[in-house]
Amino acid sequence: MIVDLDANASLRPPPSLGERLLVEWNRLGNPSSVHRLGQQSRAVVERGRCAIRKLLNVSAHDRVVFTSGATEANNLALYCLSQRGGSIISSSIEHPCILEPLRRLSNSGRGVSLVKPTTDGEITPKAVVEALEDDTSSVSIMAANNETGVINDLKRIASCLRERDNRIVIHTDAAQLCGKSPLAFQDLGVDLLTLSGHKMGALAGVGALVIREGIAVEPLILGGPQEEKLRGGTENVLGILSLALVVEDLIETLSQRIHAMKTARDKFEQRICAELSGVTVNSVGCARLPNTSSLYVEGVRADDLLVALDLEGIMVSTGAACSSGKIDPSHVLLEMGRSDEEARSTIRVSFRGDEDPNVVDYVVPIFQRTVRRMRANELQGDPL
Ligand code: PLP
Repeated sequence: MIVDLDANASLRPPPSLGERLLVEWNRLGNPSSVHRLGQQSRAVVERGRCAIRKLLNVSAHDRVVFTSGATEANNLALYCLSQRGGSIISSSIEHPCILEPLRRLSNSGRGVSLVKPTTDGEITPKAVVEALEDDTSSVSIMAANNETGVINDLKRIASCLRERDNRIVIHTDAAQLCGKSPLAFQDLGVDLLTLSGHKMGALAGVGALVIREGIAVEPLILGGPQEEKLRGGTENVLGILSLALVVEDLIETLSQRIHAMKTARDKFEQRICAELSGVTVNSVGCARLPNTSSLYVEGVRADDLLVALDLEGIMVSTGAACSSGKIDPSHVLLEMGRSDEEARSTIRVSFRGDEDPNVVDYVVPIFQRTVRRMRANELQGDPL
């Protein structure tokens, strides 16, 4: 049996999605064309926008701009924040697609301050407010962390910031939270919100930036009138259709999915901790994504464990998928105060919510056997 416990890297689409997309593919063209193929494609793009508005309670006045994914949406958001002048607050545990543009801005002289998380991995409203400077114009804090699953209290962060200065523009990278928690843009109090299609089961290569009415945005990609001139380039119509289909389904099934994810994750954590010594679940004291488990497994290297589990047909991750392959320990765990050794021995398990009900009973004994074997080899002299 092959078991995919790496939903946070990419949520595999439901099997029926591929068939539905294949049927439609032939009927799609360029949404900017005036003829019927163009009109059909335009309708698909608007259907996708409408589904996102409904899922996230986005008003008709706010904009939903399609991008190639969360990476581009985050870059567009930061570009928009950087146009405002002043300094920017973010956090040190953001995804690299926030941290790297911020590093570039900082290198060009822009004030950037990165708030550190608690040892549990939360970015608290207090820490964000303490980072405020007289010239702070914008803030970007992720809604949920991809590695630990910790959910930040964005609503509180936004309200605390607004109490101090209601001109501050607030962005959140909600790539991991969308589809794993009820989320209402209207109530969150932020101005810009990023989402990613493939984290919700759509095709990779599509995402969106939600922009509150009145927030000035300059395009990052120039060269076409698409997306109200905010993102040049022919829309990824098939990707947007896939997003429309999964989001329409999510609108109906979100609470069951959350329940299923949490049931599987909680059972996994409870069994693994009871049946294997030297395992610690990170961030249990915080609000967490219902599907994510970050586990410190003493005495084994996470990248070796990942390969050993993969040989058994079980797919997990050592942290952010985008950075797997490089051997640096996770910046998120280091920022939370974990040692190098702890960070190198931490794996992430993330459930989809539609697994076989027996998946945990199947996985735990294999996990246990694999870790015990690796620890025994360790004692025989293989260095960690
Ligand atoms: N933001 C977060 C929190 C993520 O976890 C990821 C991907 O892992 C991204 C952004 C990038 O998403 P995309 O693959 O859609 O560009």
